[in-house]
Amino acid sequence: MSQTDSFQQALSALLEGQLPSQEQLVCLLSASGDDFAALLAAADRVRREQVGDAIWLRGLIEFSSHCRCNCHYCGLRRDNQKASRYRLSEEQILAATGQVAAAGLGTVVLQSGEDTWWTVERLQRVIRAIKEQHPHLAITLSIGERTYDEYVALRQAGADRFLLRFETSNQELYAQLHPGTSLAQRLECLHDLQQLGYEVGSGCLVGLPGQTLADLANDLLLIKKLDLPMVGIGPFIPHPDTPLASAPAGSVDLTLKMLALTRLLLPTSNIPVTTALATLDGGRRQRGWQAGANVVMPNATPNVYWQQYQLYPGKAQLGDSLCHSLANLKQQIEAAGRYVGQGPGSALGRKENAHAEHTA
Ligand code: SF4
Repeated sequence: MSQTDSFQQALSALLEGQLPSQEQLVCLLSASGDDFAALLAAADRVRREQVGDAIWLRGLIEFSSHCRCNCHYCGLRRDNQKASRYRLSEEQILAATGQVAAAGLGTVVLQSGEDTWWTVERLQRVIRAIKEQHPHLAITLSIGERTYDEYVALRQAGADRFLLRFETSNQELYAQLHPGTSLAQRLECLHDLQQLGYEVGSGCLVGLPGQTLADLANDLLLIKKLDLPMVGIGPFIPHPDTPLASAPAGSVDLTLKMLALTRLLLPTSNIPVTTALATLDGGRRQRGWQAGANVVMPNATPNVYWQQYQLYPGKAQLGDSLCHSLANLKQQIEAAGRYVGQGPGSALGRKENAHAEHTA
């Protein structure tokens, strides 16, 4: 069978709701030319049917660039002496959150390295203050691995969602890139978060040195197995002050294929166009939105710290303030024939409805 025939067969099976094999996913990830366009168009169609034309905006506050971890691909890794380290104060976080709420966004994402200075008590205080001042704002945490008890405490304080990417489902590659930790530990954290009722997001990097298409196919199968309401996938971008400085960057097209396949596997989930994808794609988000994505996370970190939070270099900037970024984003969203979603834009209700219809 030719590659195009195998591709057509695998895509039709996927559109009929069958779980693809690893081999079929590798075939779909190998699509080029007309097949590539057909894959993206199928994801765009499913996105429109299942979650509509809204694009949801999440205000991202990068509140600490300190990190105890040493991930080989990351500019904030512990051993990078050149990284700028900062911590926002509680007041600065609340002021930035106030701007997110005032701009009409329904979600704030609090992101940091794994910073132990931010004890659970400090985090709880911030979460409670946000909920008190902005009861309708959904709070997403992206702060890395914590103990089960800490996840319980943060949930009880009012955190609604949690982002924790598994980065790669290849155990050996994971261990090479994340010294002192394991994929099993990461998956246990994800399991705990799901058990505790967080709306959980995870995902992977595309183009890590040593990663194969079979690994990416396994990443997709894991994303499906975890049945994630939020999936973040971005290309690897080498940072000059890391052990992977000389490795080539991941591919934009392959990342778009991963987004499209995620949409086909999990039709009602929220899928962002990551800043890393926009960075490699000349600042554009359009192609991600046309490949199944429906979320974007404009940066609401105070300007002076924005470029210091450097997971990778050259971070695509939408504007020099949140207001400016939002004005630019709205233009881009309208130009793409889409509109800005209002409210928190949770995928959980959608998922429950889809399951209920499926089992009715
Ligand atoms: S990827 Fe996250 S956990 Fe790893 S070094 Fe960077 S900030 Fe720390």
